[in-house]
Amino acid sequence: MEHTVGIDLGTTHSAVARVIGDDATVLKLANGDRTMPSVVSFEDDGSVLAGHEAQNVAVQRPNKTIESVKRHMGEETPVATIAGQEYRPEEISALILKRLLSAAERNLGGEITSAVITVPAYFSNREREATKRAGRITGLEVERILNEPTAAMLAHGVRADTDMTALVYDLGGGTFDVSVVSAGAGVFEVIGTDGLSEHGGDGWDAQLFENVLRIVTEDTGRTIDDPAAQQRIWDAVRSAKHTLSRRERAQIEIPFLLSDPQYTFDETISRDQFQSLTADLLDETIAVCYELLDEIDYRPAEIDEVLLVGGSTRMPQVQARLTDEFGDIVRRSGSPDEIVAKGAAIQAAALADQLPVVGDTGDERLQAQEQDMAADGPGLETYSPPDEYDTVTLIDVTSRSLGIETVGDEFSTVIPRNTTVPTERTEQYHTTHDNQTIVKVKVLQGESSVASENELLDTFTLTGLPRAPAGEVSVDVTLSIDQNGILNVDAESTMGSQRESIAIEQGVEFSGEEIEQMRRDLPAVSEPTE
Ligand code: ADP
Ligand code: MG
Repeated sequence: MEHTVGIDLGTTHSAVARVIGDDATVLKLANGDRTMPSVVSFEDDGSVLAGHEAQNVAVQRPNKTIESVKRHMGEETPVATIAGQEYRPEEISALILKRLLSAAERNLGGEITSAVITVPAYFSNREREATKRAGRITGLEVERILNEPTAAMLAHGVRADTDMTALVYDLGGGTFDVSVVSAGAGVFEVIGTDGLSEHGGDGWDAQLFENVLRIVTEDTGRTIDDPAAQQRIWDAVRSAKHTLSRRERAQIEIPFLLSDPQYTFDETISRDQFQSLTADLLDETIAVCYELLDEIDYRPAEIDEVLLVGGSTRMPQVQARLTDEFGDIVRRSGSPDEIVAKGAAIQAAALADQLPVVGDTGDERLQAQEQDMAADGPGLETYSPPDEYDTVTLIDVTSRSLGIETVGDEFSTVIPRNTTVPTERTEQYHTTHDNQTIVKVKVLQGESSVASENELLDTFTLTGLPRAPAGEVSVDVTLSIDQNGILNVDAESTMGSQRESIAIEQGVEFSGEEIEQMRRDLPAVSEPTE
């Protein structure tokens, strides 16, 4: 049996979900978990570990372990060189996907052949392309690249014809993203998006970590430089942080943290202490929410719901704070780190014409799994698909302005940021020299009016313009962005019968054969022996 799924390829954790019966459900992985660390590690014997297995050896193999590869998506330089073999970010991501899917397939019984993969709303074209390639290298048919906040809306059961506007607050492991999304008249629309790229649960861990180091120094006069000892502190504080989401107090005990003098760390931290240690971090996210509302010219009263997404919104202070700010409109699912994968699954099912789904009666394993999950109780988010999901149109927005360089290093915006996509805009430019037959078009994205301060996406040359005095030959430059957020640039001269047109696809384009080659070259990921 072949399955289509939704995948949340996260910075720190990834998850895969599928519409089963009439619920979107995160698939259990082979070890019973529902999310998997987005970590890959290369062993000396040539084997490759991914997920928990990779995270477990991360301390011993810092130079052979790759974490947070999502931050590098779209970059052309390899993120790792192992035994002379270079790995691009999408190849490392493909290894994560491979491990994730094989773990899910074990429980699913059948092969996962197609998927919708989510990306942050601010992801550039290049980053979206790289994400799509990661899926294709794994052998997946990537049906769509979907923005994470849009996925969250779908998973929260908001129907496209429900007239409402939500603020999606996504606090993950390494990043914070906020988006305003509206639903109504059959479409979802991302109205605006903002965030902090180095701000997530890791930052909360770091405050606790620093606190432990401070106490160690007070107690012993020592600092802790040994990476293995530091890793033990990280593990201890992360687990204390998780405990504090459930309890008022947590004990941080790290036996024999120092051997000379012999020293065991043992302290109790209260939720209040933790919250005041990390209050600034929470404040920063709130400030960004208001900045976004300001930018898109929305008043808080125009927000109907605040949706909490991401593992770090399990911390009770997050919900409490947002309720203080926005009132009683804050919603959080019992498992906020599964929401994005579920939304992607709904989109995947809709694209595969599988919504609404009549129960997969022939498949006992699926039913068993479904019951298994339902038994997990109130933590499980249930979703009832609307009657007509297949007619749903999803609209997203551009996260950065797109345009071209003009004379004097000026940036001429063609598509301003936060424009709804799909979109197509044309601007006309004129030659600046007499008898100019060539125009070099530099396509950039960014917010600076100085072209060279923005990110160069691609350059191409339009030749064969008719000879004429400066300013008499015009060139139409058309930028269009499709449903997946992928940019196409097209330039043509419009002068009498002389007409030239060129279309480029931005970014490093890979042919089907190149992707096939990467797929063949991808090492096998070790499966744990059970
Ligand atoms: P990402 O999308 O960035 O990969 P997730 O949404 O999976 O991340 O969130 C991961 C973060 O959530 C980590 O920082 C982790 O420590 C945090 N987290 C997970 N569970 C809890 C919990 N019970 N309490 C507090 N933080 C948690
Ligand atoms: Mg996430």
